[in-house]
Amino acid sequence: MIQVDQELCVGCGLCISICPSDAISLLFNKAYIDHRKCTGCEICISTCPLAVIKKVIVTEVDGLKIKIQNHQKR
Ligand code: SF4
Ligand code: SF4
Repeated sequence: MIQVDQELCVGCGLCISICPSDAISLLFNKAYIDHRKCTGCEICISTCPLAVIKKVIVTEVDGLKIKIQNHQKR
């Protein structure tokens, strides 16, 4: 799953213009990803100048939800 760190997003809109699936929109000046439209192509991850878009893996172990975030090195 692709997620935006809402606290760090500055609402520049770059990711919105680059998304081929029209899955990103601005909500209260923060990028919001519609996961029903997102295909997971990851183009937006490398596009964000602040690197605040991450690939997140959510898995469940014994009823416990675990979130693994991929921190990209630049
Ligand atoms: S991963 Fe691809 S489809 Fe999903 S929001 Fe980013 S650019 Fe759009
Ligand atoms: S490119 Fe990054 S900073 Fe700009 S709107 Fe998208 S997520 Fe926010």
